[in-house]
Amino acid sequence: MTTTIRHHHLRIFTLLIMLSFVPGSAKDRSEAKSEFEWSRPAMGTVFRIKVWASSRSDAEDAVHLAFNRIEELESKLSFYKSESELNRLSADGFHRPVNISTDLLSVLEESLFWSRKTGGAFDCTVRPLVDLWHQHGSEGRIPPSEDIQVISEKVGYQKILINSRLGSVRLLVDGMKLDLGGIAKGFAADQAIVPLERAGFKQFLIDAGGDLRIGDPPPGREGWRISIDTPGNLNFSVQIHNVAIATSGDKYRFYEINGTRYSHIVHPVTGLGLTHHRQVTVIAPDAATADALATALSVMDIKAGLSLIETLDRTEALIQVDFENGSFNSKSGKILRSSGFPRPR
Ligand code: AMP
Ligand code: MG
Repeated sequence: MTTTIRHHHLRIFTLLIMLSFVPGSAKDRSEAKSEFEWSRPAMGTVFRIKVWASSRSDAEDAVHLAFNRIEELESKLSFYKSESELNRLSADGFHRPVNISTDLLSVLEESLFWSRKTGGAFDCTVRPLVDLWHQHGSEGRIPPSEDIQVISEKVGYQKILINSRLGSVRLLVDGMKLDLGGIAKGFAADQAIVPLERAGFKQFLIDAGGDLRIGDPPPGREGWRISIDTPGNLNFSVQIHNVAIATSGDKYRFYEINGTRYSHIVHPVTGLGLTHHRQVTVIAPDAATADALATALSVMDIKAGLSLIETLDRTEALIQVDFENGSFNSKSGKILRSSGFPRPR
């Protein structure tokens, strides 16, 4: 009995010590007076952080930690940094199991989760096919179907084997190439809020190149006003808080081959460059989800995409269909949305 009590006391004591050492946790930030903004290039785009605080210097340390975290994730997840952990995995993963960080493991697991949910429309192994389309598309040619068939062998999320217990990954086919460009920015935005919240800041917005993670509304407001690009620049904005919002679209990047416009986005299952053109905006509880789904719904059949969205909690989508030469075709163009997508205001 005595030992139990002593243990109990010890536990409370340790807890008190721990609490007093959690940096900034006790700080009251409710006196936030103005919005301050910082930006830094990362992951091939510019990250912006907005925080409501009593002064710029008050939030400086927390924002610095947030940017450090983003940089750390870039060094692990980036396809464009030859030394990234991701690229080491692509190079070695066929030859031996590779031990990876918990960050890379989390993003890969989440990526595979969305691959399964979207029938393979979202697939972080699609890169070899994208490269093939680049090679041929830049010369105004469609890749020969035999080439598509051969390269497709190196594509498929089922060819990634994760051992979560050991934290290791194997790739089943030689020449596979992983690319987390469809989800990593969102994941980084989600992670960047941790130092901000730990320091007591709640009213913030993290913009990872168009993929946003949003906290509490600014003082006296109902939410953050976010404008969505629409045809004819209609004044379309939503007011939201404590969610994420991400947009995908390839309005400007496609190859014209024999009169047909092929997107640089390739359908991982058919191996063909997309010939439909749309812009997809997804609202979800976290930015990795919004990012992955915006990419997936760019690829998927529209009905199937919207049906999937309807099954997901607190997740909504807006799809703008039919762009010509970068602008919306107002005759045949359509705007579709899931049932709960916020009305514009
Ligand atoms: P986003 O801008 O979020 O739509 O992501 C586009 C990026 O995701 C591309 O630049 C590729 O790096 C990657 N990607 C392209 N197609 C796919 C796909 N079908 N599934 C997952 N990622 C993709
Ligand atoms: Mg995406």
